[in-house]
Amino acid sequence: MRADDALARILAGVPPLPSVDVAILDALGLVLDEEVVADRDVPPFRNSAMDGYAVRARDVADAPASLRVIGEIAAGRSPTRTVGPGEAMRIMTGAPVPEGADTVVRVEDTDNRSDVVTINAATPPGTAVRHAGEDLRRGETVVARGTVLRAAEIGLLASVGRARARVIKRPRVAVFSTGDELVDAGAPLAPGQIRDTNRYSLASALREAGAEPWVRGIVRDSPDALRAALREASAADAIVTSGGVSVGDHDYMKPIMSELGTIDFWAIAIRPGRPLAFGELRDGDRRVPVFGLPGNVVSSLVTFELFVRPALLRMQGRDEVARPRTKARLLEPIEKIASLRVFARGIHDPSAGTVRTTGPQGSGILRSLSLANCLIDLPEGRARHEAGEQVDVILTEQPEPR
Ligand code: AMP
Ligand code: MG
Repeated sequence: MRADDALARILAGVPPLPSVDVAILDALGLVLDEEVVADRDVPPFRNSAMDGYAVRARDVADAPASLRVIGEIAAGRSPTRTVGPGEAMRIMTGAPVPEGADTVVRVEDTDNRSDVVTINAATPPGTAVRHAGEDLRRGETVVARGTVLRAAEIGLLASVGRARARVIKRPRVAVFSTGDELVDAGAPLAPGQIRDTNRYSLASALREAGAEPWVRGIVRDSPDALRAALREASAADAIVTSGGVSVGDHDYMKPIMSELGTIDFWAIAIRPGRPLAFGELRDGDRRVPVFGLPGNVVSSLVTFELFVRPALLRMQGRDEVARPRTKARLLEPIEKIASLRVFARGIHDPSAGTVRTTGPQGSGILRSLSLANCLIDLPEGRARHEAGEQVDVILTEQPEPR
C-alpha cells in the first residue's frame, strides 16, 4: 500500500468529534464551532492612547500654549466634567476622553504641570484618541466558525465578553505500549529488557497534535492482556498503540482487534514504518479509531507524524492537516531501497536552502529524530539521490497552514 492511499483511507475513516462548550482558557488550538459576534463596540468608549492632556485642538493649534488644568482622569474612571476653552484635563492611557476635548497632547510635549500646563507642540485634532468601535463594531463577526483559535482569537473572544466558547472537542486518546521486553522509564533493567520509550514519546506527540493523552500502561504480549487493555481504552476518542503489529509469534494485535472490531493491517511501502494497523473498535454507538503503530522507536513517531497527526487534526475539525513542504538542495548523497518511499530525518537550513540527513538512519536510532527539524521525502523508484539535487522536505516543526 502507498502512503498517500493509507492516509486517504484513514482520513475517510475517522469520525468528526462533537462540539463542546469550554472556558476560553481551555480553547487554545481548538476549532471554533460557532460564529462569534461583537456584543458591543470595542473599545466601548472613546479613550486616550497616551498619557497626557485632553484638550480642545483649537487651543493647541499653535505652540507654545498655556492651559488651565481642571482635573485628572485615570483609566477605569468616568469624567465628571467637560473640557472648556482654555482648559486641559490630565488623562491616562485607556481613560475615557472627556466631552469637549477632541485631542490628546502627550505628556512629553508638555511641562507636565498640574495647575497651568504649557503645551510645547502644536497638536492636530484626533491625536492619540481611540474611537469607540475602531477595533470591532457591535454585531460584526469577530471570529468565524472553523477558525483555529490562537492567542489573538482567545483575546478577541474575551474582548467581546465571551468567557466560554463552543469548540470541537479535544480528542482524548488512550496510548499504550505492547511488549514483554518493556519496563517503565525509571525502573531497573533486567537482562533482555529495554525501556518503554514509545509511550512517552507518543503521549508527547499526542499533546503536540492538540490531543489529551490518556496514558495507559505497558501491555504484555498475551491475548488476554491486550483484549482487556483495548476494551478499557475504548472509552477514549481514539487509541494509539505501539508494537505487536508485525508478524512475530507474539504479535497479538491482529487476532484481538479482529475480535473486538474491524482492522486492516497494511504493509506500507515506506521506511521507516512499514507495518501499520488501522481500524475501529465499537463501543455501543461510538466508533473508536485505533492506530497500531510499529514498535521501533523511530518508526512509531514517524508513522504518528504521517498518519495519526493528520487524523487527529481532522477529528478536531481542521481542514488543512498537511504540514508545509519546501524544496531544498541535498548536501550529501543518499542511498535507498528503490521500491520504498523513504522519510529521512533531516536538518533543513532555510536561509541556505539546503538539507542534510541527521546521520545514521536506523529505525531504532531515536537520535536521528531528535537532531532533525524536517523529514526528507524521497519517492519510490529511485535507489540513490545525489548531492546537489533538489529534494522534497516536510517541515515538521511548522504548523499546518490555517
Ligand atoms: P514489535 O513491533 O513489537 O515487533 O517491536 C519492534 C521493535 O521495537 C523491537 O525491537 C521492540 O523491542 C521495540 N519496541 C517495541 N515497543 C517499544 C517501546 N514501547 N519502546 C521502545 N522500543 C520498543
Ligand atoms: Mg513486540
